[in-house]
Amino acid sequence: MSDGKCTHCGHQGLEPGFLADHKQPGFGVWVEGELERGVFGGAKMMGRSKWLVDARRCPQCYHVELFAGRQL
Ligand SMILES: [Zn+2]
Repeated sequence: MSDGKCTHCGHQGLEPGFLADHKQPGFGVWVEGELERGVFGGAKMMGRSKWLVDARRCPQCYHVELFAGRQL
């Protein structure tokens, strides 16, 4: 998915990518509903739908557009 238009500068053609923790080999997801934290401080994830976050970067101004269109 290298198409799309930058909403910041209008450049056509965004670079594909995704959000990850730089220390662990995971990836970012969009979680349905308001953030609720459990007793240990982590976000409650049970029963929520989760979607992969596509992060497309503009090669001209480096603005990043986020899309959550693929459910896990
Ligand atoms: Zn741009």
